[in-house]
Amino acid sequence: MHDTASDSNSIHQCTSTSVGCPACKDLEPVWQRLAADLGPGGILVGKIDGTKNRALMTRFSVRHFPSIYHITGVETREYSGRHTLQDLSAFAMGNWKKVEPRTGCASPVSRCGRLYGEIGKLPARGKAKYFELRDQKQYSDVSLFAGMLAVPVLVHLKCDTILSGRKFSSIGEPTSPTDQNTSATAVAATVSGQPEENKKKKKRKKQRTIHVDPFSLPLPPSAFTSYQGQDQFRFSVTHQSTRSSARVCKIETPHGTITTPGYVPVATNAALKAVDTTVADSLGVELMFCNTYHLMLHPGSETVEQAGGLHSFMSRRRDRPLITDSGGFQAFSLAYGTVHQELHSSLKRKSSPSSEKRTRDGNLVLKISEEGITFRSYRDGTPMLLSPESSISAQKSLAADIILPLDELPPYHISEDILAASVARSHRWEARSLLHHIKEPREQACYGIIHGGSSTELRKASSRYISSLPFDGFAVGGSLGKTSEELFEIMQNVMGWLPRDRPVHVLGIADPINITRLATLGCDTFDSCHATRVGRHGAMLTEIGNLRVAAGDHKSAHRTPVDNCSCPTCTTYSLAYLHHLVKANEPIAATLLSVHNIYFMVEMMKKLHFAILNNEV
Ligand SMILES: [Zn+2]
Repeated sequence: MHDTASDSNSIHQCTSTSVGCPACKDLEPVWQRLAADLGPGGILVGKIDGTKNRALMTRFSVRHFPSIYHITGVETREYSGRHTLQDLSAFAMGNWKKVEPRTGCASPVSRCGRLYGEIGKLPARGKAKYFELRDQKQYSDVSLFAGMLAVPVLVHLKCDTILSGRKFSSIGEPTSPTDQNTSATAVAATVSGQPEENKKKKKRKKQRTIHVDPFSLPLPPSAFTSYQGQDQFRFSVTHQSTRSSARVCKIETPHGTITTPGYVPVATNAALKAVDTTVADSLGVELMFCNTYHLMLHPGSETVEQAGGLHSFMSRRRDRPLITDSGGFQAFSLAYGTVHQELHSSLKRKSSPSSEKRTRDGNLVLKISEEGITFRSYRDGTPMLLSPESSISAQKSLAADIILPLDELPPYHISEDILAASVARSHRWEARSLLHHIKEPREQACYGIIHGGSSTELRKASSRYISSLPFDGFAVGGSLGKTSEELFEIMQNVMGWLPRDRPVHVLGIADPINITRLATLGCDTFDSCHATRVGRHGAMLTEIGNLRVAAGDHKSAHRTPVDNCSCPTCTTYSLAYLHHLVKANEPIAATLLSVHNIYFMVEMMKKLHFAILNNEV
């Protein structure tokens, strides 16, 4: 029934019934009334006898009768409410939008779902073939039985031949669909340092217990060749330093140009902490970072879309671009805590990122699987699935200029083989995200995210695979080391593997010292809530370190807070007054200090541009 429905844009609602099923008989009069009510409005209401269509039941994973589905386009949703005319009619008229469509093997139109359907047809086909051979070809039962025995023997011999001839290749992305599994397995075997044969056995054992091979790689680059990026998104190098890899570039977006190296403040809930967005714009902020996870929960991506996107909703200037993340960082932080928290606590977790039901902070995470991450909203307890597709769809509704694919954020303290599985999953999710994005780009650019933690081999494999896909730019995420030295070493390697024709964003790193060092490697943009967080904690950024405004010796400092600073705070207020505000816990203190800190970061980037243009760095 799905293929027929897919051919049109009409909406179908079907039920699977079984003869002799009491609930099905109770539903019958309601169903007929529903068909009569909705038919004139163009909503087709159908009914399938499940006892006569077992293959279709297998494909739809029907486990009970009656089962009710809503089908539109290629999306299928299952109804789980009451069998009343009012509820069913409401679901068909629009409440279906509140239900997540089936994805993966649960989707009847997925490759896996179609395979289930084909498997379900095998008994009927076998039976028909048997009667054909016996009655029309005149084969005896003994001959047919011998033939049936020969089939599994031949299949076994064929599989044995294939497995014995299988070889591992070096680390790297697959060049064709046929070598995906081989390359993926090589990643696991190399990082663990175990003999290949042992790794083969371990992998086969995992394949029996895990639905999706954790080391399998996603679609090859050839699957994306029809997508050439966005005309509205252009990246150009203004100047390449002769002294280092530092560069000054321009990223043109539908909402203005970003000059790099660029500082990107984080406006989690479409608002900077304690700073008015219009004030930040006046300070010279170009790109601003918003978090999809928080905006999905409140006010909801649909509400933002109704307002015309984030720019309209938050009254952002039309010549200042926005970037949103996938929501994965916050969702995984519920399960594992952030890497920052992990590194700054005594807790040494050895958890697997692939395990399910690992919960934290009030059991908000319900499940982490190949499909995505299911969590319970901390606002109203509603279960929500964050999948690559739903994350991209939410970011389409938010309508930022740059969006990011869903990736997995594993804990820091994990073994390399578990990290390898996590990187492989991130690659599969990012490929799914990109596929969903290019169906309807909407003038948005999508950056691929490089993972691999502190593992050089995994970072290399991730850089090569992600850069082989038609992403508009790259972001470097995951654990970036415990120290600035480790961060620099990881980024130095990654920047050496990434192509230079697309922008590179560093996720979650934007303190003055690290920005200055990473800019010499050619990194382009940096996001962090560092400046506003430091301001809320009573400190001002300066070229010689943080100025703690609440320090006792500032009580009578009736002078400019930071020398030679032209920000609104420093040109208006004295250090003694700011000291008083902080000590008195006045809310405006966080605003005034954060305004200075954002201005400091913007000015620091301008000085950096000047230094690069003069080949001084
Ligand atoms: Zn200032």
